[in-house]
Amino acid sequence: MLKEQIKNKVLVVAAHADDETLGCAGTIAKHISEGDDVRIAFMTDGVSSRDNSSKQHEVERNSAMDKAMQVLGIKQYQCFSFPDNQMDSVPLLTIIKVIENVIDEFEPNIIYSHFAHDLNIDHQITHQAVMTACRPIKGSSVKEIYSFEVLSSTEWQSKSQSSFQGQYIVDISTYWHKKEQALLCYQDELREFPHSRSLPCIEALATLRGASHGFAKAEAFQVERIIKS
Ligand SMILES: [Zn+2]
Repeated sequence: MLKEQIKNKVLVVAAHADDETLGCAGTIAKHISEGDDVRIAFMTDGVSSRDNSSKQHEVERNSAMDKAMQVLGIKQYQCFSFPDNQMDSVPLLTIIKVIENVIDEFEPNIIYSHFAHDLNIDHQITHQAVMTACRPIKGSSVKEIYSFEVLSSTEWQSKSQSSFQGQYIVDISTYWHKKEQALLCYQDELREFPHSRSLPCIEALATLRGASHGFAKAEAFQVERIIKS
C-alpha cells in the first residue's frame, strides 16, 4: 500500500497585507490545491505611515485582506501590529521573537518571505528577522526558504546591492486567475499603469517569468536555503 503523502506546512511571512499576493499568490493557491497547510503572518498594520492613515482605511485594508484570504483559500492568518514603514523603530529582537513563536507553534517546513534588498524598510527587516528566526540548528522544522519579489520594491532596490535572482520557478498558469482575483481585493493598493504596482505590470512580470521558462505564467523566487536530510 502506498504511504500517505506527507503534506507541506507552508508559512508566508509578509510585511504588509498585499505583499503575499504580489509575491506568491499563485504559489499559495498551488500549495493549497495540493493539500498543503498554508498560513500567513502579516507584520504590520499597513496604515500608520500613509497620508490617508485613518481608522477607516485600516478597516478597509483589513477587509481587503480578509477577502484576498478567502480567494486564496487561506484559513489561518495572523496580523502583528508593527508600525508600517517604521519597523526599524522596533528592536529587531522583538520582531524575531514574534516570528520564532509562529514557527515554534506551526513548525513549517517551507517559508516564503521578502527579498533582503527590497527598497521598503519593512521588507528588509522582515527578511532579516525571518533568516534569524530560521537559523539552521538541529531540530529546526524549516527546510526550505524562498524570497519573493514585490513590484515597486524589489526592482526599485539600490543598485549598489546584489539584485534579485529568480532561481526557483513555479508554474502558476492555472492559478493566475486566483492571483488576479486576490489582487483586485487590494484595489486601493494598486496604481495606474505605467506604475509597476499596476495590474498590467504585475501580469507582465508573471508572463515574463513564465515565458522565460516555457510557461504562460510563473512566479520566481530567490532560493535562500534548501536542506535535504
Ligand atoms: Zn510591502
